[in-house]
Amino acid sequence: MKVLPVEIRTHTALHVVKGAVVKVLGESAKWTASTYVKGSRGVLTVKFDRKPTPEEIAGIERLANEKVKENAPVMVYELPRDEAEKRFGEDMYDLFSIPPEVTTLNVVVVEGWNVNACNKEHTRTTGEIGEIKIRKVRFRRGRGLLEISFDVLD
Ligand SMILES: [Zn+2]
Repeated sequence: MKVLPVEIRTHTALHVVKGAVVKVLGESAKWTASTYVKGSRGVLTVKFDRKPTPEEIAGIERLANEKVKENAPVMVYELPRDEAEKRFGEDMYDLFSIPPEVTTLNVVVVEGWNVNACNKEHTRTTGEIGEIKIRKVRFRRGRGLLEISFDVLD
């Protein structure tokens, strides 16, 4: 079996964690402000208006790992931008915008979980990510940003 560079797994975990964040915290947490990946460490930052409770954080971790266990396909659709917008709407976008001259998008879909225009490399299924451990959650009240730091484990 091919061993995946850990950063591909960590990056794909961002999509899985994001889906769990929206399931637990609701649609108001659906805008990603930034992402960071280094080795097995990832940070997902979303717009949000409060610090989640410990139960909510545990729920995010639990749901993310259930999605990993499910070994769901990570689909990538290469589509003309207008067609992608018709099909997926604004939900596929992040707060950082894609320049208007980009006319073809890669849309990453974990069915029923996360849709995101993203041109990075991904695992083929969620199971290849491995276990996700949330390390730290920080709410920056002044900026209305919630930072979720996690590791992917072997
Ligand atoms: Zn991606």
